[in-house]
Amino acid sequence: MTPLERALRERIAAEGPITVETYMEACNAYYYATRDPLGARGDFTTAPEISQMFGEMIGAALADCWRRAGSQSDAIYAELGPGRGTLAADALRVLRSAGFRGEVHLVENSPVLRDLQRQMLPDAHWHELVDELPAKPLLLIASEFLDALPIRQHVAGIERRVMVAAGGLAFERDGEIIETSPAREQAVSAIATCIAAKGGLALIIDYGHARSAAGDTLQAVRGHGFAPLLASPGEQDLTSHVDFQSVAEAASAAGASVTPLVPQGEWLIRLGIEARAQALSSAHPEWAEETQRALDRLTGREQMGELFKVIAIHSPEWPIPTGFE
Ligand code: SAH
Repeated sequence: MTPLERALRERIAAEGPITVETYMEACNAYYYATRDPLGARGDFTTAPEISQMFGEMIGAALADCWRRAGSQSDAIYAELGPGRGTLAADALRVLRSAGFRGEVHLVENSPVLRDLQRQMLPDAHWHELVDELPAKPLLLIASEFLDALPIRQHVAGIERRVMVAAGGLAFERDGEIIETSPAREQAVSAIATCIAAKGGLALIIDYGHARSAAGDTLQAVRGHGFAPLLASPGEQDLTSHVDFQSVAEAASAAGASVTPLVPQGEWLIRLGIEARAQALSSAHPEWAEETQRALDRLTGREQMGELFKVIAIHSPEWPIPTGFE
């Protein structure tokens, strides 16, 4: 039995079943606080860990919008759940070369990952919560962050909970599931409120669907595959698909503008990732094959290109970020 499972069983014995939301929050807090989950030897690989091209395209998109908005000197680079800091380092290289001198603010609650981020970005500022970000124009990126925030599940109008059964943890009820995520809506609302008041843009990249719909999308990921949801609490990543309709609605309600949702592959191609791959391959022929493989993984329909999607939230006063028309 994992240490977290022991704690959860004691809690359920004392207080009764816990909601899926409480379960997911407890599992991920423990999981991220105790390890670096990324990469071949971890549990999953994310886009910035596949190739520097991913962060560079994001840096170029942020730099372009910032310049067209007038290159405000008080704008900050902000990232939610920066993992190892790879994306930030790649994006900031491009932003710095475009003349951006702003501060770097990272929202991260894992001490293990903060340490890794500090090695990459020694001058950054760290925050526990999204609403602790300074009230400044934002150049913000959240890549595979929202999917890790907890969701609620309802079956026939009743909130789904986790109980202790004979064989271990079990769900109380099954049936058609409706998912919602107050935690995600709150995070989106906080950044959209800041953007509406102070300017800036946020790029949200994650897997998910364009329209709210019924269905169970909660999953556990371990060792690069799916695992049983209740089997090893705290030792596997719990995630669910992001409902981009509710993301867009939360951002609009806070007064920000929202772009259409674009598949990651199409967005990266519109931004010029193929030319970047070509340039990298010419400069480093010894890595050409690897560069091509990375390009395929990031943009291929059967790979990340179609499942992952990008939406931008921006100030009505700022131009529409590139790649969304
Ligand atoms: N964006 C990175 C890492 C994605 S993994 C990449 O694409 O490689 C999810 C990240 O979000 C991790 O850094 C994790 O520690 C962080 N995270 C998860 N839940 C969080 C929360 N509630 N508050 C702050 N950070 C959180």
